[in-house]
Amino acid sequence: MNKINELNKIQSKILTEMKCPLKDAAKNLVFGKGNPDASIMFIGEAPGAQEDEQGIPFVGSAGKELNKLLSSIGLTLDDVYIANILKYRPPENRDPAIDEIYRHTPYLIEQIKVIKPKIICTLGNYSTKFVLAQFNIPNMKKIAGITQLHGKVNNLNIEGMDFMVIPLYHPAAMLYNPNLRPILGQDFLEMGKILGLKPVEKKPEPAPVKAKKIIQKGLGEF
Ligand code: URA
Repeated sequence: MNKINELNKIQSKILTEMKCPLKDAAKNLVFGKGNPDASIMFIGEAPGAQEDEQGIPFVGSAGKELNKLLSSIGLTLDDVYIANILKYRPPENRDPAIDEIYRHTPYLIEQIKVIKPKIICTLGNYSTKFVLAQFNIPNMKKIAGITQLHGKVNNLNIEGMDFMVIPLYHPAAMLYNPNLRPILGQDFLEMGKILGLKPVEKKPEPAPVKAKKIIQKGLGEF
């Protein structure tokens, strides 16, 4: 069976057999997107409103940031595969609950086994803890937070598969905390170097056009 058929089978299993209150409340399953033959897989946390609406991961504002970060090292969606810890949106984008992680991650593990990425980039705390705990949910609490782990390479053998795991801040985090923007940008550049990619030169911003002074009769100059 080719990878697309195998992924379709996992997707059908989620639709037919998975039980979770999130599934009943969500509009769509958000399974994954990108190139099934990619050697790099990104794992996010959970779909947001836009993703739930379209059934596609990372199409909202975090996705736009992720696309920019990928293009800063010359990568596109054709070079990577992207999936989430949770397959359905949690209400109000709250954090994943432990029982939801138990219900959803068996399908993520199946996706990983089909994609067979060489490199896994985890985005944010939940996916970092899940992967660095070697898919062992009770051990997730033993893993440090993303502040300590971001940008550091981990070579792991999980269930017989070798991965280079690179934890990264979640792109949504830098929307709330702009101080994280240069850190995530730098981690991507470092990751690009590890992968042997050249950073893409940024085009210089066009010079701002000088606004003409507006004079209104009676109001003077302002
Ligand atoms: N954040 C995620 O972690 N995943 C998405 O698909 C969208 C936003």
